[in-house]
Amino acid sequence: MPHTIISDKCQGVAQCANACPVGCIKKSSGKNQMGTDYFFVDFQTCIDCGICLQVCPVEGAVIPEERKELQKQN
Ligand code: SF4
Ligand code: SF4
Repeated sequence: MPHTIISDKCQGVAQCANACPVGCIKKSSGKNQMGTDYFFVDFQTCIDCGICLQVCPVEGAVIPEERKELQKQN
């Protein structure tokens, strides 16, 4: 199952995007609730490797399941 980045918890650090082996984590064009850039996972491309979850320094920003309602897509 693809991983999800919770848009309103992401702090835009980009460790996940740099580490993703298939390059499926993209930067948003807008800001989240905190006024911060956020990243999002392309669910179609994600291979569920779990690296983004391991490298993210923000508690709870990445979860190992597909939750479309928690992740903005742009
Ligand atoms: S999910 Fe975590 S590592 Fe990725 S951009 Fe957001 S805060 Fe940074
Ligand atoms: S689980 Fe792996 S493939 Fe999917 S977004 Fe995270 S690092 Fe990329």
